[in-house]
Amino acid sequence: MTSVISRADGHCELCGAEQSLGVYAIPNSGDRDVEECGVAVCETCSELLGKDDPSADMNHWRCLQTSMWSPHAPVQVLVWRLLDQLSAEGWAQEALESMFMEDDTRQWAQSTGSVDADQPPTLDSNGAELKAGDTVVIIKDLDVKGTSFVAKRGTAVRNISLTNNPEHIEGRVNGTRIVLLTQYVKRSG
Ligand SMILES: [Zn+2]
Repeated sequence: MTSVISRADGHCELCGAEQSLGVYAIPNSGDRDVEECGVAVCETCSELLGKDDPSADMNHWRCLQTSMWSPHAPVQVLVWRLLDQLSAEGWAQEALESMFMEDDTRQWAQSTGSVDADQPPTLDSNGAELKAGDTVVIIKDLDVKGTSFVAKRGTAVRNISLTNNPEHIEGRVNGTRIVLLTQYVKRSG
């Protein structure tokens, strides 16, 4: 716990405020202990992190555009998850796309626990199991609901997310986050 605070050097690792800092332990962090999954946050950030919907505090979370460059994995994970929830905003989506994370950090960021462990596995068109972070290839031209574009056959969709429905995955095509039916994709690599 103290090492997290000393790493932060008196500044909130999200917004940079110089306030009394506490340690926020990132939920869904597997077996990481608080030293490994803690982020030093100010009282303001701590209070806002307690809310379900970060989009109500959009102006505050603009600070993520700076903290996204933190070299520390837990800070990256927390920033990524917040940006993901804010990704309806253009700036947040751009930030998400330009974030750099190691693969295992990205997997941690994506394991938000929103997928029920008891649900059936998510399978591609060949019956291969899909996991968050996988790359899939679209095997059929698809009209994308609510947009005017077609997701072309052969398009690779990187870094997919699973959903609560094993027949649906989410991924970004043409910069837009869309739901894809697993029957029209195949796992790549
Ligand atoms: Zn803060």
